[in-house]
Amino acid sequence: MVITGGSRGIGAATASLAAERGYAVCVNYRRNHQAANAVVEKIRQQGGKGVAIAADIAIEAEVIALFNAVDHQLGTITALVNNAGILEQQTRVENLDAARLNRVLATNVTGAFLCAREAIKRMSTKRGGPGGAIVNISSVAARLGAAGEYVDYAASKGAIDAMTLGLAKEVAAEGIRVNAVRPGFIYTDIHGDGGEPGRVDRVKEFLPMKRGGKAVEVAQAILWLLSNEASYTTGTFIEVAGGR
Ligand code: NDP
Repeated sequence: MVITGGSRGIGAATASLAAERGYAVCVNYRRNHQAANAVVEKIRQQGGKGVAIAADIAIEAEVIALFNAVDHQLGTITALVNNAGILEQQTRVENLDAARLNRVLATNVTGAFLCAREAIKRMSTKRGGPGGAIVNISSVAARLGAAGEYVDYAASKGAIDAMTLGLAKEVAAEGIRVNAVRPGFIYTDIHGDGGEPGRVDRVKEFLPMKRGGKAVEVAQAILWLLSNEASYTTGTFIEVAGGR
């Protein structure tokens, strides 16, 4: 399995749970080598198989190198979690320039596309592969929008949803399922310091369960979509958002 952005947050929780369930896991990361190694070390201590491989998924050559390295180190993969994503500071649309938009789209959309492409090349039964499953990490922002906050991020996740639907149809007859998880507010570094206290408290008031989610609660949905229990589930979305 390849988990992009597996060094922290939802990706790290997914890597750990996936290893527990018997997957050999590639923990991809961009620059936080220490965090990625800690995730792999935990997997190994649990008796699982894990490797950490650096690659900026926004860069095509790095994605190709990542999947080639995985072929050598883990063999042919049957699962991809397109998890890596960035969220920049909240800002109104007037202050949002093309450079920031391109940065967000490059990781959140182009990166996910490139990884899906490389995974499909290897998994497709039409190309002699074993089949497999892809889970893209979207956001409730794709459905609810994020007005006055991060409209660029919401747009990137809308693209993920559309890509999920398109790819699911394109590869359904090749033994590959493609689904997405839309998390709500989850306590991770993406919100600053793991959820700045002020922001978490403010957000909490609006959440039906009066709390944000834990990364492992998202990981559980991801692992279900990847599993054989979801063998007839493709082109669909699970929201892990506490009723938001
Ligand atoms: P974190 O900020 O905690 O972790 C992000 C991870 O992505 C890190 O491992 C980081 O690597 C990696 N990463 C970022 N950019 C790249 C890149 N270009 N190439 C490779 N790796 C990269 O994020 P979360 O765990 O919170 O988010 C995971 C996913 O869930 C994202 O897609 C996010 O949009 C989505 N999501 C999160 C929500 C939340 O409330 N937390 C809500 C809805 C969706 P490194 O450590 O090296 O920097």
